[in-house]
Amino acid sequence: ATMPPLLSAIASAGRHGVLVKSAVVMERLGQVDQVALDKTGTLTEGTPRVTDIRPLSASGLDEDGLLALAAAAEHPSEHPLARAIVDAARTRGLTIPVVEDFASAPGTGVTAIVDGRTVAVGSPARLLDGRDGHPAADLAAQLEQEGRTAVLVDVDGVPTGVLGIADRLRDEAATTVAALAALTGTAPVLVTGDNPRAAARLAEEVGITEVRAGLLPQDKVAVVGELEKAGRKVLVVGDGVNDAPALAAAHTGIAMGRAGSDLALETADAVVVRDELATIPTVVALSRRARRLVV
Ligand code: ADP
Ligand code: MG
Repeated sequence: ATMPPLLSAIASAGRHGVLVKSAVVMERLGQVDQVALDKTGTLTEGTPRVTDIRPLSASGLDEDGLLALAAAAEHPSEHPLARAIVDAARTRGLTIPVVEDFASAPGTGVTAIVDGRTVAVGSPARLLDGRDGHPAADLAAQLEQEGRTAVLVDVDGVPTGVLGIADRLRDEAATTVAALAALTGTAPVLVTGDNPRAAARLAEEVGITEVRAGLLPQDKVAVVGELEKAGRKVLVVGDGVNDAPALAAAHTGIAMGRAGSDLALETADAVVVRDELATIPTVVALSRRARRLVV
């Protein structure tokens, strides 16, 4: 027997390195007319590196002290920023203290008890909420202006310093954005938990004009809801735990597999296994072709 078109399309998608989880998903991919792209790990490679270590002078910490504290709190986390911080500490040969009571808040950061002190590491906007004039806020803004993700390190509620983290844009990011715009007839939007300054810089580089930044996981769901209310069939592409609710809420969700969190991979309808963003327009086109053959 000849293979039904949607099953052949799944096999083709597989050869391109995309795992499409069902024939229903293979069919739905071709209906998409709006794409919402995550930033970190999706448009960027997802292997960020620490570029700046800035202890506040009032903290009494030096660079190594600040980095070791942050690495301790981040050690249990699977977030790409956490891995960058732990790797930086290891590269410097620092001893990373063992923590208790680790907790993570997707889209915000982590907290843990380190040597009896509560260490929080995460988004300056959230951790400094209402403390705009604080020297740590100025440091963070300066790093974000340079396109970095700034991460605040807070000890017992007191800001002690800021880390700057940078990730490389994927080589194929701009061409993929253009290909998706051409296929769907709509410009893709950027939906990110990262700061608006770094998001705007990256959006400009890849040719995206609509940017939603500083989003919590439920805010990403709200953006999807807004677009679907306007009659769009939205494809969400993401990699993080923070993307899982939006991947589930969207018409179709695709997860980036290599650096993606287990939750994103399980929740998504399809997974980019070979780490190439350009396979996404390819599978949308495959679906369109298969749908034309199904009667
Ligand atoms: P994105 O949507 O771009 O993939 P996330 O929602 O995962 O980003 O993270 C958004 C922001 O939350 C980060 O830029 C950072 O400020 C903060 N954050 C989230 N998780 C962590 C973590 N483990 N360590 C430090 N900061 C974090
Ligand atoms: Mg992400």
